Amino acid sequence: MDIKKGKLFVISGSSGVGKGTLLKQLVQRNPELEVSISATTRNPRPGEVDGVNYFFTSKEDFLKEVENGDFLEWAEFNGNYYGTKQAWVERNLNKGRNLILEIETKGALQIKQKMPDAVLIFILPPSLEELEHRLRGRNTEDEATIQGRLHEVKREIECSKNYDYRIINDDLEKALSELEKLVKSVIR
Ligand code: 5GP
Repeated sequence: MDIKKGKLFVISGSSGVGKGTLLKQLVQRNPELEVSISATTRNPRPGEVDGVNYFFTSKEDFLKEVENGDFLEWAEFNGNYYGTKQAWVERNLNKGRNLILEIETKGALQIKQKMPDAVLIFILPPSLEELEHRLRGRNTEDEATIQGRLHEVKREIECSKNYDYRIINDDLEKALSELEKLVKSVIR
């Protein structure tokens, strides 16, 4: 019997937009969705676990894997490398699993080129002012870092015009239900 190939969803959104919370709840409510674990060269944050949040790796090893063609996509973000393993994605899609990649825009557009059937979804903040407010509300970063993030946010929002769908995270419950409806309509 032929197994129906799984669907690939790529979800991006600027930092501070709440995509982490959205994704966590989406997967909790829909256990048939699996989230890919990326490789990264950045250091683990407190509480992050190797093999759970990311596969933490050195720049040297990461670049070796790039050379070997191990990544379906990879990109530099904030001075660190991030990438998705091709073998994992292919193996799971072939098993009929529906996958989610939570990655930034440069990687997302590489995926769309290689796999046009992938569904690209961008989570937007209600407004730039609101996002700035949220970023400042975290109270963890200096002004230069906040300005850097805002610049990056504007670039990513511009890039999101190439995505298949854009969802505004104004109200978490509303955004979650929109995202869930969209995903279910694709995997049905
Ligand atoms: P963070 O360091 O905050 O966990 O992630 C920084 C950015 O890297 C986020 O926008 C996240 O979506 C993105 N990212 C995480 N994993 C990957 C990946 O495998 N590939 C790409 N291109 N971006 C990733």
